[in-house]
Amino acid sequence: MSIISFTSSPPWAGVAPADWNDWRWQLRHRLVTLAQLEQRLALTPAERAGIRLTGGKLALAITPHFFNLIDADDERCPIRRQVVPRLEESAFSPDEMADPCGEDGDMVAPGLVHRYPDRVLFLVTDRCASYCRYCTRSRIVSGAGEQELDTDFDEAFRYLARHTEVRDVLFSGGDPLLLSDARLEGLLARVRAIPHIQLVRLGSRAPIFLPQRVTPELCAMLKKFHPLWLSIHTNHPRELTVETRAALARLADAGIPLGNQSVLLKGVNNDALTLTELCQKLLLCRVRPYYLYQCDLIRGSAHLRTTIQEGLDLMNRLRGHTTGYAVPQYVVDGPGGGGKIPLNPNYIIAKTSDRFVLRNYRGDIYEYPEPSPEPAVLQHGRWKD
Ligand SMILES: *Cc1c(COP(=O)(O)O)cnc(C)c1O
Repeated sequence: MSIISFTSSPPWAGVAPADWNDWRWQLRHRLVTLAQLEQRLALTPAERAGIRLTGGKLALAITPHFFNLIDADDERCPIRRQVVPRLEESAFSPDEMADPCGEDGDMVAPGLVHRYPDRVLFLVTDRCASYCRYCTRSRIVSGAGEQELDTDFDEAFRYLARHTEVRDVLFSGGDPLLLSDARLEGLLARVRAIPHIQLVRLGSRAPIFLPQRVTPELCAMLKKFHPLWLSIHTNHPRELTVETRAALARLADAGIPLGNQSVLLKGVNNDALTLTELCQKLLLCRVRPYYLYQCDLIRGSAHLRTTIQEGLDLMNRLRGHTTGYAVPQYVVDGPGGGGKIPLNPNYIIAKTSDRFVLRNYRGDIYEYPEPSPEPAVLQHGRWKD
Protein backbone atom coordinates (compact mmCIF):
# COMPACT_ATOMS: atom_id res chain seq x y z
CA MET A 1 0.00 0.00 0.00
CA SER A 2 1.76 3.17 -1.10
CA ILE A 3 0.47 5.98 1.02
CA ILE A 4 2.52 9.11 1.08
CA SER A 5 2.72 11.73 3.77
CA PHE A 6 3.47 15.20 2.52
CA THR A 7 3.60 16.67 6.00
CA SER A 8 7.16 17.88 5.83
CA SER A 9 7.12 19.09 2.24
CA PRO A 10 7.08 22.79 1.28
CA PRO A 11 5.47 25.33 1.47
CA TRP A 12 4.78 24.69 5.16
CA ALA A 13 8.16 23.07 5.76
CA GLY A 14 9.07 25.35 8.67
CA VAL A 15 5.94 24.71 10.70
CA ALA A 16 6.42 23.07 14.08
CA PRO A 17 4.80 19.61 14.19
CA ALA A 18 2.80 20.68 17.24
CA ASP A 19 1.18 23.41 15.14
CA TRP A 20 0.73 21.26 12.05
CA ASN A 21 -0.96 18.54 14.09
CA ASP A 22 -3.32 21.00 15.76
CA TRP A 23 -6.68 21.09 13.97
CA ARG A 24 -7.32 24.68 14.96
CA TRP A 25 -3.96 25.68 13.42
CA GLN A 26 -5.00 23.84 10.23
CA LEU A 27 -8.30 25.75 10.17
CA ARG A 28 -6.64 29.11 10.81
CA HIS A 29 -4.17 28.49 7.97
CA ARG A 30 -6.64 27.40 5.34
CA LEU A 31 -6.19 28.84 1.88
CA VAL A 32 -9.21 31.04 1.35
CA THR A 33 -8.16 33.74 -1.13
CA LEU A 34 -6.89 33.88 -4.67
CA ALA A 35 -3.64 35.47 -3.48
CA GLN A 36 -2.98 32.73 -0.94
CA LEU A 37 -3.56 30.01 -3.48
CA GLU A 38 -1.58 31.78 -6.18
CA GLN A 39 1.45 31.97 -3.89
CA ARG A 40 1.57 28.21 -3.72
CA LEU A 41 0.20 26.92 -6.98
CA ALA A 42 0.59 27.95 -10.64
CA LEU A 43 -3.09 28.49 -11.33
CA THR A 44 -4.59 28.13 -14.80
CA PRO A 45 -6.65 31.01 -16.21
CA ALA A 46 -9.81 28.92 -15.75
CA GLU A 47 -8.99 28.40 -12.08
CA ARG A 48 -8.15 32.05 -11.50
CA ALA A 49 -11.44 33.10 -13.06
CA GLY A 50 -13.27 30.44 -11.05
CA ILE A 51 -11.80 31.64 -7.77
CA ARG A 52 -12.85 35.22 -8.49
CA LEU A 53 -16.45 34.01 -8.72
CA THR A 54 -16.57 31.91 -5.54
CA GLY A 55 -17.75 34.81 -3.37
CA GLY A 56 -21.32 34.54 -4.65
CA LYS A 57 -21.49 30.78 -4.76
CA LEU A 58 -19.44 28.54 -2.49
CA ALA A 59 -16.48 29.82 -0.52
CA LEU A 60 -12.96 28.71 -1.29
CA ALA A 61 -11.24 26.93 1.60
CA ILE A 62 -8.52 24.28 1.54
CA THR A 63 -6.72 23.03 4.64
CA PRO A 64 -2.90 22.91 4.46
CA HIS A 65 -3.14 19.15 5.01
CA PHE A 66 -5.34 18.63 1.96
CA PHE A 67 -3.56 21.23 -0.15
CA ASN A 68 -0.33 19.27 0.28
CA LEU A 69 -1.89 16.33 -1.54
CA ILE A 70 -2.17 18.37 -4.72
CA ASP A 71 0.39 17.52 -7.37
CA ALA A 72 1.44 21.04 -8.37
CA ASP A 73 2.85 19.80 -11.68
CA ASP A 74 -0.43 18.25 -12.76
CA GLU A 75 -3.20 20.59 -13.85
CA ARG A 76 -5.55 17.61 -13.91
CA CYS A 77 -4.66 16.41 -10.42
CA PRO A 78 -7.71 14.60 -8.96
CA ILE A 79 -7.22 16.28 -5.58
CA ARG A 80 -7.01 19.71 -7.15
CA ARG A 81 -10.20 19.18 -9.16
CA GLN A 82 -12.19 18.58 -6.00
CA VAL A 83 -11.32 21.81 -4.19
CA VAL A 84 -9.85 24.40 -6.58
CA PRO A 85 -12.68 26.37 -8.22
CA ARG A 86 -12.86 26.51 -12.01
CA LEU A 87 -14.60 28.88 -14.39
CA GLU A 88 -16.95 26.07 -15.49
CA GLU A 89 -18.54 26.30 -12.04
CA SER A 90 -20.29 29.48 -13.03
CA ALA A 91 -21.79 27.96 -16.19
CA PHE A 92 -25.25 26.79 -15.15
CA SER A 93 -27.05 24.35 -17.42
CA PRO A 94 -30.87 24.27 -17.55
CA ASP A 95 -31.14 20.88 -15.81
CA GLU A 96 -29.14 22.03 -12.82
CA MET A 97 -30.63 23.20 -9.54
CA ALA A 98 -29.70 25.08 -6.38
CA ASP A 99 -31.29 22.31 -4.28
CA PRO A 100 -30.93 19.22 -6.51
CA CYS A 101 -32.03 16.72 -3.85
CA GLY A 102 -35.11 18.77 -3.00
CA GLU A 103 -34.21 18.91 0.67
CA ASP A 104 -35.89 22.22 1.38
CA GLY A 105 -39.22 20.62 0.48
CA ASP A 106 -38.78 17.96 3.18
CA MET A 107 -37.63 20.31 5.92
CA VAL A 108 -39.88 19.75 8.91
CA ALA A 109 -38.02 22.30 11.03
CA PRO A 110 -35.24 24.64 9.89
CA GLY A 111 -32.23 22.33 9.45
CA LEU A 112 -34.11 19.05 9.90
CA VAL A 113 -34.96 16.99 6.79
CA HIS A 114 -37.44 14.15 7.23
CA ARG A 115 -37.81 12.26 3.95
CA TYR A 116 -37.69 8.56 4.76
CA PRO A 117 -40.07 6.82 7.17
CA ASP A 118 -37.73 6.09 10.08
CA ARG A 119 -34.75 8.44 9.84
CA VAL A 120 -33.87 12.09 9.56
CA LEU A 121 -31.04 14.25 8.30
CA PHE A 122 -30.02 16.91 10.81
CA LEU A 123 -27.96 19.80 9.41
CA VAL A 124 -26.07 20.94 12.50
CA THR A 125 -23.62 23.41 10.94
CA ASP A 126 -23.01 25.12 7.60
CA ARG A 127 -19.21 24.97 7.86
CA CYS A 128 -16.68 22.46 6.51
CA ALA A 129 -12.91 22.27 6.81
CA SER A 130 -12.58 22.58 3.03
CA TYR A 131 -15.24 23.03 0.36
CA CYS A 132 -15.90 20.42 -2.32
CA ARG A 133 -16.64 22.25 -5.56
CA TYR A 134 -19.51 19.87 -6.35
CA CYS A 135 -21.17 20.33 -2.95
CA THR A 136 -24.84 19.34 -3.18
CA ARG A 137 -25.63 21.84 -0.40
CA SER A 138 -23.67 24.79 -1.76
CA ARG A 139 -26.84 26.86 -1.44
CA ILE A 140 -26.54 26.80 2.35
CA VAL A 141 -22.95 25.72 3.04
CA SER A 142 -19.93 28.01 3.61
CA GLY A 143 -21.93 31.22 4.03
CA ALA A 144 -21.27 32.42 0.47
CA GLY A 145 -24.37 31.06 -1.28
CA GLU A 146 -27.82 32.52 -1.71
CA GLN A 147 -29.47 30.91 1.34
CA GLU A 148 -28.59 30.75 5.01
CA LEU A 149 -28.74 27.57 7.02
CA ASP A 150 -30.72 28.67 10.03
CA THR A 151 -31.06 25.49 12.05
CA ASP A 152 -33.56 25.82 14.87
CA PHE A 153 -32.25 23.32 17.39
CA ASP A 154 -35.10 23.66 19.87
CA GLU A 155 -37.73 23.17 17.19
CA ALA A 156 -35.80 20.24 15.68
CA PHE A 157 -35.51 18.47 19.05
CA ARG A 158 -39.19 19.09 19.76
CA TYR A 159 -40.01 17.44 16.41
CA LEU A 160 -37.78 14.47 17.17
CA ALA A 161 -39.30 13.98 20.61
CA ARG A 162 -42.83 13.99 19.14
CA HIS A 163 -42.08 11.73 16.18
CA THR A 164 -41.69 8.28 17.66
CA GLU A 165 -41.27 6.76 14.20
CA VAL A 166 -37.81 8.34 13.93
CA ARG A 167 -35.28 5.78 15.13
CA ASP A 168 -32.15 7.03 13.32
CA VAL A 169 -30.69 10.54 13.32
CA LEU A 170 -27.94 11.48 10.87
CA PHE A 171 -25.89 14.56 11.76
CA SER A 172 -24.51 16.30 8.73
CA GLY A 173 -24.18 19.86 7.47
CA GLY A 174 -21.65 21.19 6.78
CA ASP A 175 -19.42 18.98 8.83
CA PRO A 176 -20.51 18.11 12.37
CA LEU A 177 -16.89 17.52 13.38
CA LEU A 178 -16.22 21.22 12.92
CA LEU A 179 -18.22 21.78 16.10
CA SER A 180 -16.22 21.77 19.31
CA ASP A 181 -16.22 18.57 21.36
CA ALA A 182 -18.44 20.25 23.96
CA ARG A 183 -20.99 21.50 21.42
CA LEU A 184 -21.17 18.15 19.63
CA GLU A 185 -21.43 16.30 22.92
CA GLY A 186 -24.33 18.53 23.93
CA LEU A 187 -26.20 17.71 20.70
CA LEU A 188 -25.49 13.99 20.97
CA ALA A 189 -26.70 13.98 24.57
CA ARG A 190 -29.94 15.67 23.55
CA VAL A 191 -30.52 13.06 20.84
CA ARG A 192 -29.69 10.21 23.20
CA ALA A 193 -32.16 11.56 25.75
CA ILE A 194 -34.99 10.72 23.32
CA PRO A 195 -35.93 7.12 24.09
CA HIS A 196 -37.15 6.07 20.64
CA ILE A 197 -33.97 7.14 18.85
CA GLN A 198 -31.87 4.03 18.52
CA LEU A 199 -29.12 4.96 16.11
CA VAL A 200 -26.97 8.06 15.74
CA ARG A 201 -24.88 8.66 12.66
CA LEU A 202 -22.39 11.34 11.66
CA GLY A 203 -21.42 12.31 8.12
CA SER A 204 -18.01 13.96 8.04
CA ARG A 205 -15.12 14.65 5.73
CA ALA A 206 -12.94 15.81 8.63
CA PRO A 207 -10.87 12.59 8.66
CA ILE A 208 -9.84 13.51 5.09
CA PHE A 209 -9.62 17.31 5.13
CA LEU A 210 -8.60 17.67 8.75
CA PRO A 211 -7.45 14.36 10.24
CA GLN A 212 -5.96 16.26 13.18
CA ARG A 213 -9.55 16.85 14.32
CA VAL A 214 -9.90 13.19 15.25
CA THR A 215 -8.23 13.50 18.64
CA PRO A 216 -8.23 10.80 21.32
CA GLU A 217 -10.49 13.12 23.34
CA LEU A 218 -13.03 13.33 20.49
CA CYS A 219 -13.05 9.54 20.12
CA ALA A 220 -13.50 9.06 23.87
CA MET A 221 -16.46 11.46 23.78
CA LEU A 222 -18.12 9.83 20.74
CA LYS A 223 -17.78 6.40 22.33
CA LYS A 224 -20.22 7.39 25.05
CA PHE A 225 -23.05 7.56 22.52
CA HIS A 226 -22.93 4.10 21.01
CA PRO A 227 -24.32 2.74 18.81
CA LEU A 228 -22.84 5.59 16.76
CA TRP A 229 -21.83 5.15 13.13
CA LEU A 230 -19.78 7.48 10.98
CA SER A 231 -19.65 7.94 7.23
CA ILE A 232 -16.63 9.60 5.73
CA HIS A 233 -16.33 11.01 2.22
CA THR A 234 -13.32 10.01 0.13
CA ASN A 235 -13.10 9.99 -3.63
CA HIS A 236 -9.52 9.08 -4.46
CA PRO A 237 -6.98 6.71 -2.89
CA ARG A 238 -4.45 9.54 -2.50
CA GLU A 239 -6.69 11.00 0.22
CA LEU A 240 -5.79 8.07 2.48
CA THR A 241 -2.63 9.61 3.89
CA VAL A 242 -0.81 8.36 6.97
CA GLU A 243 -2.59 11.03 9.02
CA THR A 244 -6.01 10.02 7.69
CA ARG A 245 -5.30 6.34 8.23
CA ALA A 246 -4.30 7.04 11.82
CA ALA A 247 -7.48 9.09 12.35
CA LEU A 248 -9.61 6.27 10.92
CA ALA A 249 -7.82 3.75 13.13
CA ARG A 250 -8.63 5.85 16.21
CA LEU A 251 -12.29 5.98 15.23
CA ALA A 252 -12.44 2.26 14.48
CA ASP A 253 -10.66 1.49 17.77
CA ALA A 254 -13.36 3.52 19.52
CA GLY A 255 -15.81 0.95 18.17
CA ILE A 256 -17.34 3.27 15.59
CA PRO A 257 -18.40 1.39 12.46
CA LEU A 258 -17.10 3.37 9.47
CA GLY A 259 -18.62 3.74 6.03
CA ASN A 260 -17.54 5.75 3.03
CA GLN A 261 -19.55 7.80 0.59
CA SER A 262 -17.88 8.68 -2.71
CA VAL A 263 -19.19 10.89 -5.46
CA LEU A 264 -18.48 9.70 -8.98
CA LEU A 265 -16.57 12.62 -10.51
CA LYS A 266 -15.21 13.06 -14.00
CA GLY A 267 -11.44 13.40 -13.92
CA VAL A 268 -11.25 12.33 -10.27
CA ASN A 269 -12.37 8.73 -9.90
CA ASN A 270 -14.24 7.72 -13.04
CA ASP A 271 -11.96 4.84 -13.93
CA ALA A 272 -12.09 1.27 -12.70
CA LEU A 273 -8.51 1.10 -11.44
CA THR A 274 -8.84 4.21 -9.27
CA LEU A 275 -12.20 3.14 -7.83
CA THR A 276 -11.00 -0.39 -7.15
CA GLU A 277 -7.86 0.86 -5.44
CA LEU A 278 -9.89 3.31 -3.35
CA CYS A 279 -12.40 0.70 -2.24
CA GLN A 280 -9.77 -1.92 -1.45
CA LYS A 281 -7.66 0.55 0.56
CA LEU A 282 -10.73 1.70 2.48
CA LEU A 283 -11.21 -1.86 3.71
CA LEU A 284 -7.63 -1.85 5.00
CA CYS A 285 -8.59 1.26 6.97
CA ARG A 286 -11.63 -0.65 8.33
CA VAL A 287 -13.98 1.52 6.30
CA ARG A 288 -16.77 -0.19 4.38
CA PRO A 289 -17.58 1.51 1.05
CA TYR A 290 -21.26 2.45 1.50
CA TYR A 291 -22.53 4.59 -1.36
CA LEU A 292 -21.14 5.70 -4.69
CA TYR A 293 -23.23 8.71 -5.66
CA GLN A 294 -24.05 9.79 -9.14
CA CYS A 295 -23.07 13.49 -9.03
CA ASP A 296 -26.13 15.58 -8.19
CA LEU A 297 -27.41 18.17 -10.64
CA ILE A 298 -25.99 20.97 -8.55
CA ARG A 299 -25.50 24.21 -10.42
CA GLY A 300 -22.11 24.47 -12.11
CA SER A 301 -21.23 20.78 -11.93
CA ALA A 302 -21.41 19.75 -15.60
CA HIS A 303 -17.62 19.52 -15.92
CA LEU A 304 -17.53 17.02 -13.04
CA ARG A 305 -20.49 14.84 -13.95
CA THR A 306 -20.33 11.51 -15.78
CA THR A 307 -23.18 9.69 -17.45
CA ILE A 308 -25.12 7.12 -15.44
CA GLN A 309 -24.10 4.54 -18.04
CA GLU A 310 -20.47 5.19 -17.17
CA GLY A 311 -21.27 4.60 -13.51
CA LEU A 312 -23.04 1.33 -14.32
CA ASP A 313 -20.07 0.19 -16.38
CA LEU A 314 -17.75 0.97 -13.47
CA MET A 315 -19.93 -0.98 -11.04
CA ASN A 316 -19.79 -3.88 -13.46
CA ARG A 317 -16.00 -3.76 -13.19
CA LEU A 318 -16.13 -3.92 -9.38
CA ARG A 319 -18.79 -6.49 -8.42
CA GLY A 320 -17.35 -9.99 -8.46
CA HIS A 321 -13.90 -8.76 -9.43
CA THR A 322 -12.97 -7.82 -5.89
CA THR A 323 -14.04 -8.37 -2.26
CA GLY A 324 -17.77 -7.95 -1.87
CA TYR A 325 -17.24 -5.65 1.12
CA ALA A 326 -15.30 -3.32 -1.18
CA VAL A 327 -18.26 -2.79 -3.50
CA PRO A 328 -20.42 0.25 -2.67
CA GLN A 329 -24.04 0.67 -3.72
CA TYR A 330 -24.27 3.05 -6.65
CA VAL A 331 -27.17 5.49 -6.14
CA VAL A 332 -28.65 8.58 -7.71
CA ASP A 333 -30.65 11.05 -5.67
CA GLY A 334 -33.87 11.44 -7.65
CA PRO A 335 -33.61 15.06 -8.91
CA GLY A 336 -35.99 17.36 -7.09
CA GLY A 337 -36.61 15.18 -4.04
CA GLY A 338 -36.88 11.51 -5.03
CA GLY A 339 -34.31 10.36 -2.52
CA LYS A 340 -31.68 7.70 -3.11
CA ILE A 341 -32.43 5.33 -5.95
CA PRO A 342 -30.16 2.28 -6.35
CA LEU A 343 -28.57 1.76 -9.75
CA ASN A 344 -27.28 -1.69 -10.62
CA PRO A 345 -25.85 -3.26 -13.74
CA ASN A 346 -28.34 -5.72 -15.13
CA TYR A 347 -27.64 -9.32 -14.21
CA ILE A 348 -31.05 -10.64 -15.25
CA ILE A 349 -31.00 -11.65 -18.92
CA ALA A 350 -34.53 -13.04 -19.08
CA LYS A 351 -37.34 -14.22 -16.84
CA THR A 352 -39.82 -16.85 -17.96
CA SER A 353 -42.75 -18.29 -16.00
CA ASP A 354 -40.53 -20.88 -14.34
CA ARG A 355 -36.98 -19.60 -14.46
CA PHE A 356 -34.59 -16.68 -14.33
CA VAL A 357 -31.81 -16.46 -16.88
CA LEU A 358 -28.86 -14.71 -15.25
CA ARG A 359 -25.32 -13.70 -16.06
CA ASN A 360 -22.42 -13.68 -13.64
CA TYR A 361 -19.68 -11.03 -13.37
CA ARG A 362 -17.77 -12.67 -16.25
CA GLY A 363 -20.79 -12.74 -18.53
CA ASP A 364 -21.41 -16.50 -18.31
CA ILE A 365 -25.08 -17.44 -18.44
CA TYR A 366 -26.87 -19.45 -15.73
CA GLU A 367 -30.47 -20.50 -15.22
CA TYR A 368 -32.25 -20.61 -11.89
CA PRO A 369 -35.46 -22.68 -11.97
CA GLU A 370 -38.02 -21.16 -9.62
CA PRO A 371 -39.58 -23.47 -7.06
CA SER A 372 -42.76 -24.90 -8.50
CA PRO A 373 -45.94 -23.52 -6.92
CA GLU A 374 -47.34 -27.15 -6.75
CA PRO A 375 -46.77 -29.02 -3.45
CA ALA A 376 -43.84 -31.41 -3.75
CA VAL A 377 -44.77 -35.03 -4.53
CA LEU A 378 -44.85 -37.04 -1.30
CA GLN A 379 -42.48 -39.95 -0.96
CA HIS A 380 -45.14 -42.52 0.02
CA GLY A 381 -42.73 -45.01 1.50
CA ARG A 382 -41.45 -42.55 4.10
CA TRP A 383 -44.85 -41.69 5.49
CA LYS A 384 -46.36 -45.20 5.80
CA ASP A 385 -45.19 -46.01 9.32
C1 LIG B 1 -29.18 10.04 2.54
C2 LIG B 1 -30.24 10.52 3.39
C3 LIG B 1 -30.59 9.83 4.56
C4 LIG B 1 -29.90 8.55 4.98
O1 LIG B 1 -30.12 7.56 4.05
P1 LIG B 1 -29.53 6.08 4.26
O2 LIG B 1 -29.80 5.38 2.97
O3 LIG B 1 -30.28 5.49 5.42
O4 LIG B 1 -28.08 6.22 4.57
C5 LIG B 1 -31.62 10.33 5.32
N1 LIG B 1 -32.30 11.45 4.95
C6 LIG B 1 -31.98 12.13 3.83
C7 LIG B 1 -32.77 13.34 3.47
C8 LIG B 1 -30.94 11.69 3.02
O5 LIG B 1 -30.62 12.38 1.91
